[in-house]
Amino acid sequence: MNRIRLLPEQVANQIAAGEVVERPASVVKELVENSIDAQATQIIVEIQAGGRSLIRVTDDGTGMNRDDALLCLERHATSKIRRAEDLAAISSMGFRGEALPSIASVSRFTLTTRGRESQSAEGTRVVVVGGKIVEVKAAGTAPGTSIEVRQLFFNLPARRKFLRTLETESAHVTHYLTLAALAFPEIAFTFTRDGRVVWQLPAIKGGEDFPARLTSLKERLRNLYGGEQNLLEVNFCRQMHMSLQPEEELENNDAAPVSLDVRVWGFIGAPGVSRSTREEQHLFVNRRPVENRGLNFALMEGYHTSLMKGRYPVCCLFLEIDPAEVDVNIHPAKREVKFHREGEVRRLVAEAVRQRLLAFHSKGAHAPVPDTAVAASSATREFVPITTSSPPAPAAPQANQAALPNFPAPLLPAPPVKEPPQRQPALPMGFAPLPLPSPAAPALPTAANKPELSEPAAPQPPARFPHAPLPLFDVPLRLVGVIGKLYVVLESDRGLVLLDQHAAHERILYEQMLNRLEKQEQAPSQRLLLPETVELPARDAAFLRQQLPVLGRLGVGLSEFGERTFLLDALPPFVKVSEPRRFVLELVDQLKAVGQEVNTLRLGEHVVAKTVCRHAVKANDPLAGAELENLISDMRKCAMPYTCPHGRPTILEMNYRELEKKFGRQQ
Ligand code: ADP
Ligand code: MG
Repeated sequence: MNRIRLLPEQVANQIAAGEVVERPASVVKELVENSIDAQATQIIVEIQAGGRSLIRVTDDGTGMNRDDALLCLERHATSKIRRAEDLAAISSMGFRGEALPSIASVSRFTLTTRGRESQSAEGTRVVVVGGKIVEVKAAGTAPGTSIEVRQLFFNLPARRKFLRTLETESAHVTHYLTLAALAFPEIAFTFTRDGRVVWQLPAIKGGEDFPARLTSLKERLRNLYGGEQNLLEVNFCRQMHMSLQPEEELENNDAAPVSLDVRVWGFIGAPGVSRSTREEQHLFVNRRPVENRGLNFALMEGYHTSLMKGRYPVCCLFLEIDPAEVDVNIHPAKREVKFHREGEVRRLVAEAVRQRLLAFHSKGAHAPVPDTAVAASSATREFVPITTSSPPAPAAPQANQAALPNFPAPLLPAPPVKEPPQRQPALPMGFAPLPLPSPAAPALPTAANKPELSEPAAPQPPARFPHAPLPLFDVPLRLVGVIGKLYVVLESDRGLVLLDQHAAHERILYEQMLNRLEKQEQAPSQRLLLPETVELPARDAAFLRQQLPVLGRLGVGLSEFGERTFLLDALPPFVKVSEPRRFVLELVDQLKAVGQEVNTLRLGEHVVAKTVCRHAVKANDPLAGAELENLISDMRKCAMPYTCPHGRPTILEMNYRELEKKFGRQQ
């Protein structure tokens, strides 16, 4: 007897279900994707008990006639592709023709559908139990499709046991629906959980062009998250230059296109906005929510030094690219995608993010997105002098002066303090990293956020997009004093501002070093009175030997002094190292780490600059009057002044509303 046998259809479907249907959220995903593919304008999702007992997805899409309603339950039955070649450029969400038969094989499944074009008021109802069709009949129904999935995995107790708590399963469903809602603002979504409406998102009618899509997305974000998002708009378009891959060259003798348009658009968190996980990174490729590590890295890379170690950016970013450039058929649930030119795509995404962050400062948060914006003009970056004593800068409303009645006049020189307080990534209580807007972000003053003590009303700044934070280095700042030899206390027309002197110095020096590098200038270097020798383990020595030219360009004079020994005889003038060996080892470690990171923008030079800046002496010096003014003015000239090169905030704000709250002036 033969040992090999063809599996019955039902078993084959259950096997496929093992890949496609992991949990209730996967069912929701497949059904909603089908509704989207069917051009629905409204999708209603209902779940009960985290989707274990019921999932129902109803749409007003094209619907199906009776034959199609039966055929769609067959394996490999799809209306979305016809030939193998179609796989190379998928423009629909689905294409595998697997979802419905798989889901129906592991649940009690009811499909009710009526073709949009159908003249009759009757549609078709098909009932399937564990993969067996048990009923097919005519049924009165509205045009469109409704699919009901009850008791998922009822016939596979082992899988049912693996389902998590109702909360967890429901959270997965919510997460997927968030993604779908963000990708399709023109579709109205209703989501009910155990009979209670979670969302009712209206359809947002907008144009097809990108500015219009950005507006729609913004509206959808507002509907989903409320108005307090601190996001920057991205709309970036570039030509991707394609080097033909060797096999393509062989296959393709006629002139193949050498470049194609790639667009990156959506919203990213302003500098200072980050999360401890990647959960708030919503990435889409041709509107399909995807997981792709390369894109995650690109995002990190784009944020570069504006991100603290261990923190992740937030975003809702869409990549539009020729479907032929993406393989969406590498994951059964189509969650992951692969780019044919991964490196180029990554570079473009990183560049889009970086440009936007740079523009954030140079043009203010409210400027048009980089794609369409004119180059930053120095006029918009006008320096507002800070003054150690009144009068306040003219742009600052007098009114708020009264709000700090008991703040002493300039505190210089700072009172002696034994040890500057330890800087921690955790923020001092009540202070928000800037430019995180507080609820009282001054962009849109309301009666509630105006300081109580102010008599004449503060001049109203022009209305701004309420999502957009107001960059603090663009507003006048008045110097009050320095505390702990470290924190510069300043006053703005919206409250109290603290600047971390050390972090600020690091940022300034870092950018100066990079600017010199860009101009191919040799960084200034100062000979040490007492050159030091540093002995390294053999492996590190070999590595360091290759890095000597880079270090030299940055003003770090290191030369070989034997097999494993180096002579440190010069340093940039602002650097002082008490332990040369540790300093050199730190450089080696940091440089090695770059090699392992999969990014391209963070060159070794950036890393050296970062490390060197950490040893900036001036940062710890007590500063006074003019020096402090220079510090602020230098910060205003920086491209990314809101974080130090290691991503820590340089400046924090506590606005009047927060102060009033703390002092109990506000109920
Ligand atoms: P795929 O989406 O990969 O084609 P599915 O098994 O998910 O495979 O669906 C099979 C077919 O059933 C689809 O190609 C589509 O023609 C039809 N279909 C599924 N859901 C709907 C729906 N909500 N509205 C209209 N047609 C649908
Ligand atoms: Mg499908």
